[in-house]
Amino acid sequence: MAEETIFSKIIRKEIPTTLLYQDELVTAFRDINPRAKTHILIIPNKLIPTVNDVEADDELTMGRMFTVAKKLAKEEGIDENGYRLIVNCKAHGGQEVYHIHMHLVGGAPLGPMLMN
Ligand code: AMP
Repeated sequence: MAEETIFSKIIRKEIPTTLLYQDELVTAFRDINPRAKTHILIIPNKLIPTVNDVEADDELTMGRMFTVAKKLAKEEGIDENGYRLIVNCKAHGGQEVYHIHMHLVGGAPLGPMLMN
C-alpha cells in the first residue's frame, strides 16, 4: 500500500485549502506556494503515487484531470492566452509529494519549458 500524503487530507477536507473543484474522481485546489499568477493542482482522489503507478483502469481519471484543467483555465481567464500543465515524476522530475498531481500554471508568459 502506498503511503498517504497531505493531499489525502485535502481530499477528505481534513486540512484547509483553497478548494476549487471536486467530483467523484478528482480534486483541484490552489498551490500553497504559487510559482505563477495562477497555480492550481489537480489530483486524483485515488492515491496514485507517481506516473509510474498509473494503470489502464485509471485512464478515465487521468482524462478527467485534463477536462478539469481546461474548465479551471477558462474560469481563471487564462484559456485564451494559454497555460502549462506539468506532471513531475520522482526524483529527477522534481516530484515532492508522492500523490500524482497536475500543475496548472499560467497568467503570464512562462518562458522556457523547464521550470527551476
Ligand atoms: P511537486 O514538486 O510536483 O511534487 O509539487 C508539489 C506541490 O505541492 C508544490 O508546488 C507545493 O507547493 C504544493 N503543496 C504542498 N503542500 C501543499 C498544501 N498543503 N496545499 C497546497 N499545495 C501544497
